Amino acid sequence: MKSHTKYLTFNVPKRMDFVHITPQIQDAVVESGVAEGLCLVNPMHITASVFINDNEGGLHEDYKRWLENLAPHEPISQYKHNRTGEDNGDAHLKRQIMGREVVVAITNGKLDLGTWERIFYGEFDGRRSKRVLVKIIGE
Ligand code: ZN
Repeated sequence: MKSHTKYLTFNVPKRMDFVHITPQIQDAVVESGVAEGLCLVNPMHITASVFINDNEGGLHEDYKRWLENLAPHEPISQYKHNRTGEDNGDAHLKRQIMGREVVVAITNGKLDLGTWERIFYGEFDGRRSKRVLVKIIGE
């Protein structure tokens, strides 16, 4: 069995935003040389997400509005977590609902995604450098 590990770094200029990362993940699959296997992708931070959905701008705006309604950033005093001196209580909650990781099958050397499925990095406490792990196993 082959395995390939890669770390991607993102520094998103906004507090909350989504980055389309399917091409970078497919590049990692090619580097791995794996034709049949599995690809795990997860952020190594508890205020960011990796998720799969449509690469459509209106939907992304809908997600941001929905998440902000569920867990508004302001006032920061509403979150007990922020008693630690942080201001990212909302970001931990947004990350939880958008998910930690994705696992995608690799078939014939390619990510075996559905027609409209794309992989995104979701940032909820940006303006700093964060890592995403890509782990590929198979043969
Ligand atoms: Zn925190």
